[in-house]
Amino acid sequence: MAHFTVIGLGRFGITASLELIHLGHTVTGIDIDEKLAEQYASDLTQTLICDATDERAMAELNLSDSEAILVAIGEDMQASLLCTLHLKNLGAGQIWVKANSTAHHTILSKLGVQRIIHPEEEMGTRVAQALNYPMVNDYLSIGHGLYVVEITLPASKKPQQVQHLIQGFERSIHCLLIKRGSALISAPSSVTEMQEGDLLLLCGPREALVRIAPRLV
Ligand code: ATP
Repeated sequence: MAHFTVIGLGRFGITASLELIHLGHTVTGIDIDEKLAEQYASDLTQTLICDATDERAMAELNLSDSEAILVAIGEDMQASLLCTLHLKNLGAGQIWVKANSTAHHTILSKLGVQRIIHPEEEMGTRVAQALNYPMVNDYLSIGHGLYVVEITLPASKKPQQVQHLIQGFERSIHCLLIKRGSALISAPSSVTEMQEGDLLLLCGPREALVRIAPRLV
């Protein structure tokens, strides 16, 4: 369990906060809007009313015990940037910031922000990927062009071995896990048989994963 601080309890900030609570963490939610702070007081570990552009007020908050601070002020770029600058000056560790525009992104990266989030673009990409490859439940970019994808083997699929699925891509695609009901088959071998309804975790370059996609339909 870790402690997180979320600044800005708009739709994005509160959704992230509630998910962190759901995952078993503690969350301090901060907003300039008194009504929002009151509204979510019982859902989060604590909520505070504070203007995040006020460095003195921010210095009085105990931010050092947070594993990471998420700045979820999107619309008011000036407020988002000032808040981020104050957090940097106050020596905050991990800072994640939601950006609303390219200019916002550029300045945040100059400030040395570890993770800049573009929720609409990120969600748009995910939705497009899901529409393009309906068999892909979810995917995660792990850098250097590599992805981990979660796939459910369709009911129409006859049992086949892992080696048949990744044939021609044995060096680039790795089957990390098969989940069958509640059973897990970790690091399956090339001759492990996959069955309809199995959930697979495959890792590899995007290009190779796209090439084997038709074998999964
Ligand atoms: P969303 O799409 O998540 O609803 P948004 O991108 O439209 O949000 P805003 O609505 O501008 O962004 O801001 C999100 C929250 O941040 C709001 O609840 C707002 O009250 C809060 N906020 C804005 N400025 C400050 C500030 N200076 N200090 C603290 N909170 C702030």
